[in-house]
Amino acid sequence: MSATPIQTKRFFIFGEIFRQTRYASRHVLSIPRVSACYDLLCALAWLPPEQSHKSPEATMAELQRYHTKDYVEAVYQAEINQDLPEHLKNKYNIGRQGNPIYPGMFHRPATACGGGLLAVDLTWHGGIAHNPAGGTHHAQKDHASGFCFFNEPVLTILKWLDKGLKRIVYLDFDAHHGDGVQNAFHDDSRVLTISIHEAHRWPYSGLISDFAGGLARNIPVPKDFHDAELLFLMNACIMPLIRSFQPEALYLQCGVDALADDPQSNLMLSNNGLWTAIEAATHLAPRIIIGGGGGYNPWSVARGWAGIWGKINHLPIADPLPQQACDFLAQLEWRHSRGRNPPNHWFKTLADRPQHSKMRDVIRELPPLIPPLAL
Ligand SMILES: [Zn+2]
Repeated sequence: MSATPIQTKRFFIFGEIFRQTRYASRHVLSIPRVSACYDLLCALAWLPPEQSHKSPEATMAELQRYHTKDYVEAVYQAEINQDLPEHLKNKYNIGRQGNPIYPGMFHRPATACGGGLLAVDLTWHGGIAHNPAGGTHHAQKDHASGFCFFNEPVLTILKWLDKGLKRIVYLDFDAHHGDGVQNAFHDDSRVLTISIHEAHRWPYSGLISDFAGGLARNIPVPKDFHDAELLFLMNACIMPLIRSFQPEALYLQCGVDALADDPQSNLMLSNNGLWTAIEAATHLAPRIIIGGGGGYNPWSVARGWAGIWGKINHLPIADPLPQQACDFLAQLEWRHSRGRNPPNHWFKTLADRPQHSKMRDVIRELPPLIPPLAL
C-alpha cells in the first residue's frame, strides 16, 4: 500500500476571538474579515460541523519557535497594560506604523497561529485546511510589521519541518511582498518561497532579482494586473516551478488585497481569477494549508474567502445568492468612501465578473526572468 498521503478531507478553522476583538477604530483592519467569512459560510450552509474546527491559541513556547522571547513577552505586556514604554514601542515597532496596541493584540494573532499549527495536524495524512485568520506574512522574528504581530505562515512551515518534511512551497498571492516569510527561510533549502505582488508598493522588497539565499522567487507585477495575466503566470512559470520542487506540503497565502474592489492596491483581479489560480495550485501537493492575509473591503474579503472554501469543496455558487446570504452581506458596514454607495454585486453575488483585458508585454516578458530551480 502506498504511504503517500491522499487529499480527500477539507477543514475550516475559526475562533470567536476574531469576532470579539478588532484593531483600533480608524485602522484599515478595523472591519469584520474572518468572522464575516465564517458568517457568510454559515448563511450559505456551507460549513457542516464535521468540517469546522475551533482554532486553539498557540502557546508562548510555540510562538517562540520563531519569535524572540523578549518580543513575544512585549506583545503580551502591551495587551495587558494597553501600553508599552516608549523605548520598547520603538524597539518592537508596536504602537507604531500601523501596528496598534488594542485589546486582543496578543491573543488574537496567537490564535491565528494556533490555527495554522492545528492545520498541520489535520492535513498530515492529506487534505486541505482553510485558516483565513492566518497568512500574517509581514511579522518579523523580533518586531511587528505591516499590521502583523506573529508570523503564522512561518510557524506553520516550521512545524512541517519539525515533523520531518523536506520540501515545502510557500506561494503568496497578497498584493504586498511576503517579506517576513522570505526572510525566515532565506537560507533554508527545504523551503521555496514564491511571492506575486504589486511592484513599487510597501514593503518595496521582493524585486525580480531577489532570490534570497537561492530558493525565493519574486514576481512583482504592474498596476491593473488582471485575471488573464495571473493565469498566464501560473501556467508559464509558477506551477512548473512548484511541480519541479515536488513539494510534500504547500502553503497558499491568500490575501485578497489584489482584488479590484480592494482599496489598498492598484491590482485588478476578480475573485474568480484568484479562485482559479488557488484551485489549480491545490493539486500540486498532498498537504495544503490556505491562509488569509490582506483585504481591506469587508465585502470583497468575505466573498473572496468564502468562495475559496466553496471552490475547494466543489460547491455550486448560486447567482444571485440565497436570501440569507444576501441579508448577511447587506448588513455589513465599511467606513470608507467606497463603502458609501456599495455596488449591488457586493450584496447579491459571490463571484465577481472575471477581469480579462489584453495581455501586456511586460507580463509576457516576466517568465524568462524567473530562473528554474537548480536542484
Ligand atoms: Zn497585503
